[in-house]
Amino acid sequence: MISLPNRDFLEAQIEDFVISSEKVAHVQVGNSAEHALLVLTKTGYSAIPVLDMKYHFCGLINAQRITDAILGLDHIEYERLPDLRVEDIMETDLPLLKPDDRFQKALDLLIDQNFLCVVDHEGMFTGILTRRVMLKQLKKRIYQLNG
Ligand code: AMP
Repeated sequence: MISLPNRDFLEAQIEDFVISSEKVAHVQVGNSAEHALLVLTKTGYSAIPVLDMKYHFCGLINAQRITDAILGLDHIEYERLPDLRVEDIMETDLPLLKPDDRFQKALDLLIDQNFLCVVDHEGMFTGILTRRVMLKQLKKRIYQLNG
């Protein structure tokens, strides 16, 4: 029978498990959808943050939103890619984490999100917490508890 992690785990701060902003691929406000598609394709990431010049978090962009924006009636209008700005097509309605949030909140949100952006009280992007990292921690805790 597996033992479940106790509340200490759920109440731990997420801070130590965040992939810091310097290591996160991103695009900037003002970049074209073509540039974003290039970064997404080259990195293989499903979605990346959109930041302003001062590293404030603005939204997320993914290939599906880009394709959707250039979908014509009977073909994909690739020629529009250089003229589309990422800020016009990014997703902004997203759950976010704060640096001092706890595992419990992250765990709840990561059921529906592959990763979460961490944003401080000034709106600065500090990094991401991925479902993979969270699952690894959960697995470690379960194995520890089972000796
Ligand atoms: P992973 O858990 O590594 O499969 O990452 C899940 C998703 O989180 C990726 O598809 C990206 O959208 C995002 N992600 C993870 N690591 C990075 C990174 N270093 N830079 C940008 N996005 C990332």
